[in-house]
Amino acid sequence: MPGFEFFGAEEKKEVNEVLETGILMRYGFDGPRKGIWKSKELEKAICAQFGSKYAQLTSSGTAALTTAMASFGIGAGDEVIMPAFTFVASFEAILSVGAVPVLVDIDSSLTLSPSAVRDAITPKTKCIMPVHMCGSMADMDALKAICDEHQLILLEDACQSIGGTYKGKALGTIGHAGTFSFDFVKTITCGEGGVVMTNDQEVYTKADAYTDHGHDHIGVDRGADLHPFLGYNFRISELHAAVGLAQIRKLDQFLSIQKKNQSILKYYLEKVPGIEFRTVPDPAGDSGSFLSWFLPSQAAADKVIAAFKEAGILPGNFYWYANNWHYIKKWMHLKNVQSLNRLNAEQQAGLEKLNTTSFEKSDAIMSRCISTAISLTWTEEQVHEKGALFSTVLLKALS
Ligand SMILES: *Cc1c(COP(=O)(O)O)cnc(C)c1O
Repeated sequence: MPGFEFFGAEEKKEVNEVLETGILMRYGFDGPRKGIWKSKELEKAICAQFGSKYAQLTSSGTAALTTAMASFGIGAGDEVIMPAFTFVASFEAILSVGAVPVLVDIDSSLTLSPSAVRDAITPKTKCIMPVHMCGSMADMDALKAICDEHQLILLEDACQSIGGTYKGKALGTIGHAGTFSFDFVKTITCGEGGVVMTNDQEVYTKADAYTDHGHDHIGVDRGADLHPFLGYNFRISELHAAVGLAQIRKLDQFLSIQKKNQSILKYYLEKVPGIEFRTVPDPAGDSGSFLSWFLPSQAAADKVIAAFKEAGILPGNFYWYANNWHYIKKWMHLKNVQSLNRLNAEQQAGLEKLNTTSFEKSDAIMSRCISTAISLTWTEEQVHEKGALFSTVLLKALS
């Protein structure tokens, strides 16, 4: 799954070019930087690789989501519909712009259930934010239809699915905007970083300024820039962008390894009666960073976790249902509204409501789900060994 597994000479070479000039900042210093513009180069490479018209790098995936929402004008009191299974960054970003995260059920795709989204729409809904979890994707046709019908913004959190596609289009380029994270454990990494992708020039121009204190970036004298609106500092550094540049050139290689390893592992799990796999709306577009599978019951999942632990093969297998970071069940800080800064009244009420909202449908899915992270470093022989061991342990645990 993570690009850090293939960190090497290419990354060092790119970083060293920046270190040679000493210009670690992405803007300005046109003379001393001697033509080295790693951030600009990475943005270009992202547009070419994923087929996006514009790309704005940020300091993180969380910052990318915040930037996208601000650029769409999403703010105080607006409701953003997001899934109950995701990384905490999804609601953090929504809260950061003053909006209200409205959490809804997922389905067997492990992403937003289109019918749950429909049920959650109110006059305050402004945006639908599908999260393409664990390398695969949401049902984009269904979500797009809902957005068109209700004139809502479709913002894709594709942070975990870099390189995945849906009906031939890169995940993150299908909605009005999409984001990737380049944090240390993502498919390609900058160490820390993220990007907003969009085909909308106005959204891009706003994102470009928002991530740099509102600087309009017109002309070459940074000191003379005007500030048409308020912004923040969500800039990426040249050192981080340099790492990402080396990584994006390896992405196709990463994807082909992931897909191969995922399909070998799947072959072994398919032999185990009772095991089912997540629904993948476009199987050809699965990035292969995880293989997610379901057991017949929560009791069976408990047994399998115990058996994997005993066999020493639990690391790399994620049981999100009991995990603090990815599922609503354990987000006590969110449900108890433990915020350092005072939230607005709509946010406060929206979060308190989570305590009385039923996530039965998601529970029924997540309590049976295990996601196996696919490593880039496994040799073909090792994946076969792993698969055979998994199926032996599973058959015994489930018998
Ligand atoms: C990693 C991740 C993010 C946030 O990315 P950071 O770069 O760590 O801020 C957002 N959403 C999802 C689904 C993620 O997995």
